[in-house]
Amino acid sequence: MAMTPLEELRHSASHILATALLRLYPDAKLDIGPPTDMGFYYDVDLDHALTADDLVRLEAEMKKIADENQPFVRREMSRAEAAALITERGQERYKLGRLADIPEGEAISFYQNGEFIDLCAGTHVRYTSKLKAFKLLSIAGAYHRGDEKNKQLQRIYGTAFPTKDELAQHLERLEQAKLRDHRKLGRDLKLFVIDDDVGPGLILWTPAGSVIRQELQNFIGEELRKQGYSQVFTPHIGKLELYKTSGHFPYYKESQFTPVIENESLAKLLHEGCSCAEMVVRLDAVSAHLAAAVNQRTGRETISPDRIRPDAELLNGFMLKPMNCPHHIKIYASQPHSYRDLPVRLAEFGTVYRWEQSGELNGLTRVRGFTQDDAHLFCTEEQVGAEMQGCLALVKTVLTTLGMSDYRVRVGLRDPDSNKYTGAAEHWDKAEEACRQAVRTLGVAFTEEPGEAAFYGPKIDFVVKDVIGREWQLGTVQVDYNLPIRFDLSYIGADNQAHRPVMIHRAPFGSMERFCGVLIEHFGGDFPAWLAPEQVRLVPISDKTLDYGRSLLAQLKADGVRVSLDEHNDKLGAKIRRAELDKVPYTLILGGKEAEAQAVSIRSRARGDEGTLPFADFAARLKSEIQSRALADKKKI
Ligand SMILES: [Zn+2]
Ligand SMILES: [Zn+2]
Repeated sequence: MAMTPLEELRHSASHILATALLRLYPDAKLDIGPPTDMGFYYDVDLDHALTADDLVRLEAEMKKIADENQPFVRREMSRAEAAALITERGQERYKLGRLADIPEGEAISFYQNGEFIDLCAGTHVRYTSKLKAFKLLSIAGAYHRGDEKNKQLQRIYGTAFPTKDELAQHLERLEQAKLRDHRKLGRDLKLFVIDDDVGPGLILWTPAGSVIRQELQNFIGEELRKQGYSQVFTPHIGKLELYKTSGHFPYYKESQFTPVIENESLAKLLHEGCSCAEMVVRLDAVSAHLAAAVNQRTGRETISPDRIRPDAELLNGFMLKPMNCPHHIKIYASQPHSYRDLPVRLAEFGTVYRWEQSGELNGLTRVRGFTQDDAHLFCTEEQVGAEMQGCLALVKTVLTTLGMSDYRVRVGLRDPDSNKYTGAAEHWDKAEEACRQAVRTLGVAFTEEPGEAAFYGPKIDFVVKDVIGREWQLGTVQVDYNLPIRFDLSYIGADNQAHRPVMIHRAPFGSMERFCGVLIEHFGGDFPAWLAPEQVRLVPISDKTLDYGRSLLAQLKADGVRVSLDEHNDKLGAKIRRAELDKVPYTLILGGKEAEAQAVSIRSRARGDEGTLPFADFAARLKSEIQSRALADKKKI
């Protein structure tokens, strides 16, 4: 694929980095150096563990190479010549494998700048001097070809921009991002813990973090009730057979925890001396009855005959729930439905488990267990459009309340040239049009992306921009024709005949874990009062006003305010500093004068010193700020 000019610039920078690497470390074995969304990297195999100081030296060398104004020159050659050149340069360890990746019949090209020559399809800027604004940023471990079985290489990250100003702005944003890193803030503010004894990727929500999550759930829950959703609860596990019917097992086996096998089945397997390989086959297997039912309903060979095993050989077991849909489907299917009952909207903050590689785990944003803000809507085909609009309206309300009004939407449509899709073409046309129309009602930018639909229906994805301009992909809304067929769902229409409902899956914020992670970074830990784990800190100037503090503490607690009293014996300045570090929205300073007048001297985290107010006035103001879920406005209220 052709590179954009910015990618070309950044990719050229990675060649210059490789040139510098070989000047400083002639033994370095190079792998690859592509551009990325934010810059570029080069993977290198080097016995010496690179340090921050080495990056400074490498960067200085890169500047020299840029100043040398070397042209990038393309050379094509035969496979044999290419292999000889790579070997002559001592780069056969990785480059020969990369050469083998190039399909027969495709051009094999090298690009040379100065003394350095690299196997590369291109493209590049014309001269190294075009690189005027670049920076090396960090070093990380990266497995060759991303495979844990391979050697871990050193990945050097850098970035480049057309101008020095753009680079400076980018570096400033990175600095901001570091300060806002939810893993750091999570630790500092004691919001969540990940403990190796519990397991990587499994979040322990501390009391403070739980407040934020609970407040968000309350808020979203209120909006759901307004929109006519019903709340349900379902267990964290389900029988294997359920997921064989839905198709989640074994198709997504790679991203799921291994099933929990029933004790009796396990004992039988041991007794029979069953091998592990055999066990896997028997776990994946289905009964003839299940296969026949699914194949008949889907009208094709959804479950192939080679997966069928006699009932006695099937393994019974449970899966940690990878998705909530099958459980909600069973609730829908537990009762007959008339068209008058539709849509049925079942919502659950449902916890699911996915197997992520340990290298992929990251704070709250990539985890192995998470709670989706999930819901499934069962509706008629005519209702799809209105229901999609409802889902989008909910997202808009929540994002606006959180001060995240800057977002865009992607509409995933089917690939017109593919026949992998379930459901009739005319249903698809209608559903795709319904998605488009629903998105138009939002009045935000959206793109249509053919080929990005799920095989079972079109979808809408949300991408939110935070205060420092970073984009976060949140959740999706998806139309589904497939699961209603696989589970043989129906409703009785006005014509008294049985019809198939359409399902909409929606988890607009993805998961509570991920969403809270994004929110921590968005607010930089400075939550608005309604979300703040501690809303008010009472700070008596001395022991003399401690009793006054205790009486305010009791009154605020009675009002449901999350408040604490600083009873430490240190100086006022230290107490105020502590409240600041804890990012408490309001610190109330209680001196003799305040106690006398039943007043408080207010320090707002967002607006600074707000002077003195009668306590009752402050309490009323705070109450309305919390109830209206106001943002921490910098201006005086
Ligand atoms: Zn290149
Ligand atoms: Zn679902």
